[in-house]
Amino acid sequence: MILKKDYQGVKRLKPFTFKPLALETLLNSNKLTDYAKTWLKSETQGVSNYGYLNKPMDFLLSKSAKTEKTKKETGKIQYVLFLSPHNKVSKKTLCPWAEQNGCFLTCLAWSGQLGMEVADNAKIKRTILMIFHFEAFIQRIADELSFLHQKYKDLLIIRLNGTQDLFKQFKSIYEMFSFISFVEYSKGLAYFEKDKKLGLSNVTRVFSGSNANETVRNRTIKAIKDGHHVVIALNTKECKKEWKVSDQIRSKFMDADKHDDRSADTIKLKFLRMKGGKQSDRNNLEKSQDQDFFWTEKQALELAAIA
Ligand code: SF4
Repeated sequence: MILKKDYQGVKRLKPFTFKPLALETLLNSNKLTDYAKTWLKSETQGVSNYGYLNKPMDFLLSKSAKTEKTKKETGKIQYVLFLSPHNKVSKKTLCPWAEQNGCFLTCLAWSGQLGMEVADNAKIKRTILMIFHFEAFIQRIADELSFLHQKYKDLLIIRLNGTQDLFKQFKSIYEMFSFISFVEYSKGLAYFEKDKKLGLSNVTRVFSGSNANETVRNRTIKAIKDGHHVVIALNTKECKKEWKVSDQIRSKFMDADKHDDRSADTIKLKFLRMKGGKQSDRNNLEKSQDQDFFWTEKQALELAAIA
């Protein structure tokens, strides 16, 4: 898609609304899952979700606990687009590698504030709006980016793939806003090739490594060997009675939980701790050493040894 305006210069933004979508159209659509349709017919605290869908919004991009950490640690202002991941709302997946990586059930989308009802409804709303008003949706993101860049200049960092793993949909944004720094995570090596081919030097892409099976483990090793930024999610929250990240792991991987400005990283390999989930599940995984999206201590040490 081609963006229509010169987006350098949006000084004020008003709340926006897209052309209202008829409930019947949505319920008969083959683009939405049954989950999304049930949501549309339901209420949240006495307010119809369908009514909420068509109400004006202030912003598509938002902040999170992690963006606040980024601001505190680095002074950078980060905004993120959070959609409903994989095939939760959209029948066509928004995360092409989610099945292979086994990451959907433990996705960031369901943890902390992001997993709460208010934030979840907003993700669902944004996803439906993107599906049915794609052009207007992208134009609005462009307006927001222009506005935010006017305000924050080089302090601004954007993540369009907050809880989704898309490329084609955002390509025109990356190209038009070559003066904005984007930090994106992906489970697809193909996106790194696309960035290179298009010369998207404003995009810092981080490969999200997984140990769910040999295919994705080998892909993680390839991403490391190819010199990409790579992050792995560890099977620990470092709570009491859980394993702590050792110096051996830290000698190869930096702690990426402190903030999310990956564009300034001099160390390409990083680790995150698990955000949601139960401690008993983590302990069971440590005992079984099964393959999972999260890396056990032993598996992380093995990876550190070959990294
Ligand atoms: S690919 Fe990322 S955003 Fe999508 S389900 Fe997996 S962890 Fe969540």
